[in-house]
Amino acid sequence: MAKRAVFLDRDGVLNVEAGYIRNVEDLILIPKVAQAVRKLNDLGLFCCLVSNQSGPARNYYPISHVEALHERLCKLLTEEAGAKLDALYYCPYLSPPAGGINPEFTGWSTWRKPNTGMLVAAAWEHDLDLKQSFMIGDKATDVDMAHNAGLTGILVTTGYGGKVLKGSYQHPTKPDYIAKDLSEAVTWISKQTKKNTS
Ligand SMILES: [Mg+2]
Repeated sequence: MAKRAVFLDRDGVLNVEAGYIRNVEDLILIPKVAQAVRKLNDLGLFCCLVSNQSGPARNYYPISHVEALHERLCKLLTEEAGAKLDALYYCPYLSPPAGGINPEFTGWSTWRKPNTGMLVAAAWEHDLDLKQSFMIGDKATDVDMAHNAGLTGILVTTGYGGKVLKGSYQHPTKPDYIAKDLSEAVTWISKQTKKNTS
């Protein structure tokens, strides 16, 4: 049977939103995030990172730097709470009008949120049931991607989330649930999954 998953945005959800992170050591976890991911692991939910990372397309840093950031992210999650991400997807592509200049990564991509390419790829590769899955993000485009693929979309107020709700960032969106942080989102998810299995 296809598995239920929780998809996680990176910046502003797992780590403190700090723009384009040029030094690996500047990636810092938001409080209680490692414990929240551990709780998802313990609930048996497939944990999958889905992140727009346009740094390589903008020529800010090479793809190896994105990989190094993810290595640090995974290390911090393990060290703090024995937590793990089951899979990591990111989109390094960006169209020219949006600011793409490095030819290797410049172009329109079905992987770039709010497009659903990363979710579809993860579903195929890991046998996931998207309609029974959750997406947690801090931007309207995270919620849009969730709804574009039939997932439950949760907005956290960490990162840009607070500004999105106030109407001062991106565009209005209708999340299925609003949580103050990942920890609260995971508590809500755990209640939803219990409801559906009892
Ligand atoms: Mg984000």
